[in-house]
Amino acid sequence: MARFIFITGGVVSSLGKGLMAASLAALLQARGYRVRIRKFDPYLNVDPGTMSPYQHGEVYVTDDGAETDLDLGHYERFTGVAARQSDNVTSGRIYQQIITKERRGDYLGATVQVVPHVTDAIKAFARAETDDLDFVLCEIGGTVGDIESLPFIEAIRQLRNEEGRENTLSVHVTLVPYIAAAGELKTKPTQHSVRELASLGVQPDILLCRCEKPLPEGERAKIAQFCNVRKEAVIPALDADSIYSVPVQYHGEGLDSEVLRAFGIHDAPDPDLSAWYDIMDRKQHPEGEVTIGVVGKYVSLPDAYKSLNEALVHGGMANRVKVNIRWLDAEMFERGDDLANELEPMHGILVPGGFGERGSEGKIESVRFARERNVPFFGICLGMQMACIEGARNTSGIEQASSTEFGPTSEPVVGLITEWMSAEGLQQRGANTDMGGTMRLGAYEAKLSPNSHVAAIYGANEISERHRHRYEVNGAYRDSLEKGGLVFSGMSPDGMLPEIVERPDHPWFIGVQFHPELKSKPFDPHPLFRGFIEAAVKQSRLV
Ligand code: GLN
Repeated sequence: MARFIFITGGVVSSLGKGLMAASLAALLQARGYRVRIRKFDPYLNVDPGTMSPYQHGEVYVTDDGAETDLDLGHYERFTGVAARQSDNVTSGRIYQQIITKERRGDYLGATVQVVPHVTDAIKAFARAETDDLDFVLCEIGGTVGDIESLPFIEAIRQLRNEEGRENTLSVHVTLVPYIAAAGELKTKPTQHSVRELASLGVQPDILLCRCEKPLPEGERAKIAQFCNVRKEAVIPALDADSIYSVPVQYHGEGLDSEVLRAFGIHDAPDPDLSAWYDIMDRKQHPEGEVTIGVVGKYVSLPDAYKSLNEALVHGGMANRVKVNIRWLDAEMFERGDDLANELEPMHGILVPGGFGERGSEGKIESVRFARERNVPFFGICLGMQMACIEGARNTSGIEQASSTEFGPTSEPVVGLITEWMSAEGLQQRGANTDMGGTMRLGAYEAKLSPNSHVAAIYGANEISERHRHRYEVNGAYRDSLEKGGLVFSGMSPDGMLPEIVERPDHPWFIGVQFHPELKSKPFDPHPLFRGFIEAAVKQSRLV
């Protein structure tokens, strides 16, 4: 039977609960346990799919087509366990489910209430598909004390009773701020936060205290005494040099040992952390560096490109180089800023996914620069679409080439898809359907041309990658684009949808309709990112 670990946050948001959950799961996994991590988001959106990246950061897409919180990306990168729709639930999704049942009359006349109906649904989400697991880690979004998270805390309280204290654990992540004027770390906010949580019926077993200075023993003892936990269960969590050092750091502070002790497990094997030491070594001791220019729209908020950022780092680890990322706002190239000046120092140019017309001409010009100057180019989703429009205009003579996403056009090189095949059969959408969850989402297979660059990079002729887009490159333009040197080297299995384009006459020019960054892991860097950074290393020797 699976044991449950509930992770809540207190004092302030952005304490890195997601990273903490991912690190603890990785440590338990390193001891041979089977783990899964779930995220409970208290907001009312059904999923983050319709939220702006500025509000919420990246939308992480799973194989089964769920649009989820970016913390699921951390979970998957740290544990290698593929996330699923059932690993992320929001208040909105729970209410939607309950209201649908209520309208159907499933409650047989009963009054539908937060307790028990909402809390029962939360508990059902926590328990679903857990038979083959040793530990289920449930991270509750938000901060204890928020109105929105109350039903989740109540559900934890009930679960702890129902599953038994010996099978459940509460980990509370707090902040111990340093007050420079006093020269001291302050424990009071932690005491208040634990009191708040305890007043809701959940006494934490372990406190993970984020602090920017080492926590003196005296303060540790004070927190333990006031918060009713063992002193050893007050785990200091100092800021780390890299997220990839966090599991080893927490292990050093005794986090996983305390968790096992709290469950009464005394015979756990020692963790095998060799993969993590190898990752840290690659990160801390690079043998060179490259600079990659990412030409996008949401560049002022790097969380909007979280997985992309990490996949580039993984590509660097694979090649033992440090990757410097220059986030470039595509719009600045439209304002007349000197594109060549900005892009010349780059060893690789990447145009990432995105939505809407804003900045598209700057992206297209960046593709042109990369093509003409033989700089390694990687286009992802919208980036591939921009590469096709650039090729259509500048190497195939279709001057009016554009995407219907940007308005009516006489040359729809990129167009809206209304029908496509998925594993579940034919999917159909109208131009006016809801925005939420209506894209081509999740894992789809692609067939690669045997002698293509991508087939060599993957070492395979068939691949599966995750998608999230509404528009597609229009197959009707294939011949014209290929005459201009842009080869369609990956197609959907039915041959209808272009999945990959490349330029054989260029050192490294690849556009993909999917999001390879979502599947890259530090201990298993994605082949396209490994290859792109390798090409950037070669480029760095030329310039
Ligand atoms: N906006 C484009 C589409 O919907 C690309 C989406 C993306 O880059 N994720 O097709």
